[in-house]
Amino acid sequence: MSYDVLVVGAGPAGSITAYDCAKAGLRTLLLEKSKHPREKPCGGAVMYRGLHILRGKLPASLVERRINGLRFLFPNGDAVEFSSKKLIGITVFRELFDEFLAKRAADAGVELREMTKVKHAYTGSNGAAVHTDDGQEIKARFLVGADGVNSVVAKSLGLRPPRKNLHRVGLGMESDFYVGEEGVMKSTNGNPSILEIVPVDGRVAYGWVFPKGEHLCIGIAGAAAHMYPLRPAFDSFVRKTEKRLGVPLKLEKRRVHFLGADGISSKNVRDHVLLVGDAAGFVDPMMGEGIAYAMKSGVHAADVITRAAELGRYDEHYLEQYHRLCRKEFGANFAVAEWAGLRGTSFAETVLKMAASYHRASDIMVKIARGEIGYSAIPYEIVKSLPRELPKVIQYVVRSRVNNSPRKGS
Ligand SMILES: Cc1cc2nc3c(=O)[nH]c(=O)nc-3n(C[C@H](O)[C@H](O)[C@H](O)COP(=O)(O)OP(=O)(O)OC[C@H]3O[C@@H](n4cnc5c(N)ncnc54)[C@H](O)[C@@H]3O)c2cc1C
Repeated sequence: MSYDVLVVGAGPAGSITAYDCAKAGLRTLLLEKSKHPREKPCGGAVMYRGLHILRGKLPASLVERRINGLRFLFPNGDAVEFSSKKLIGITVFRELFDEFLAKRAADAGVELREMTKVKHAYTGSNGAAVHTDDGQEIKARFLVGADGVNSVVAKSLGLRPPRKNLHRVGLGMESDFYVGEEGVMKSTNGNPSILEIVPVDGRVAYGWVFPKGEHLCIGIAGAAAHMYPLRPAFDSFVRKTEKRLGVPLKLEKRRVHFLGADGISSKNVRDHVLLVGDAAGFVDPMMGEGIAYAMKSGVHAADVITRAAELGRYDEHYLEQYHRLCRKEFGANFAVAEWAGLRGTSFAETVLKMAASYHRASDIMVKIARGEIGYSAIPYEIVKSLPRELPKVIQYVVRSRVNNSPRKGS
């Protein structure tokens, strides 16, 4: 049987792509190797820039916490916080969030087939096809690789060589710790609407504490080259966090996964084929945030597929529009994040502390998280208010230079 669109992988990227394609009247099949609800290693923070795609239709029962701010901790114990009255995101359990998105796609007319693993993908002059582990060959006019960081679709079609450079691949480990509602309130000083980003001792990596209803999601991530051995680093981060927060953390299960953030500079389309989400490497190279980008790329992919289907255009040249749309929307975010990430943690500390002294920093952070502006618009946002802020900024820069300059004779 042949489909208009065959989507491999029912994570956020695949389910959103499939939903929009079905809504546009395309005959769409969504293949998933597991069965929802399935486990996915993740902090479970979904930023508003992706969330708004659901137009408020996410059931309240799936929202663990509404998030209004970010707090960054530094090795010397200092902290800076950016918060707002506006919603910047939510926390969720990924297995339930992803199940909802897959079901939403099925309700919109997508044929969802679970427990079906794609082994191989290929293209021909009339379309694309996959072979599944139960011996089927399934054909479609468009094939969407939404099968995550180890995408079989991307590898089969030569769109992504195996991600072997451990400096360019991320690696993370996390776990949800049950602490009860009281434990969440205690560990967050009564404000469970803040995502905490925490340094990891002796590593170029970061950790997090994300509040959920009765759990804390705690994890660490960084370039894979810096993360080995991962388990002792994670366990020691958990013990240190337990001491800092003053709530007992009982480990039930460690979850580990790679992150691939090579999307914007890579090729993500060819005749009849598009890659979305982690398969395309659309992950923030500094923070490892990927859910919102996965959802956004799904919207763009479905949009281009719908227009291409109307025009009968299946060629790479036409489908390139999809990559251009993604690059336009979040390419600059990734470039800035990669640049900042390469400068290391002390650079991040200086910038964040400087930002915290700027009264509009929280507004800017909110706009970024909500997708209203990208990272590259930060200088413009600052310049807009410079006449009022300039004396304070100069004062701050001069003061920090004086304080950091080596003393004579030392
Ligand atoms: C430790 C960790 C913490 C993270 N925390 C956050 C966070 O807090 N916030 C955030 O925004 N991002 C976070 N991320 C990144 C985020 O998880 C991903 O960017 C996001 O899941 C990408 O969605 P996706 O749909 O592209 O891929 P996935 O969610 O990986 O979904 C891919 C789907 O494809 C299926 N599949 C795979 N292979 C096949 C196959 N051969 N055949 C059929 N089906 C297949 C899988 O079972 C899966 O359901 C984190 C990542 C890690 C590793």
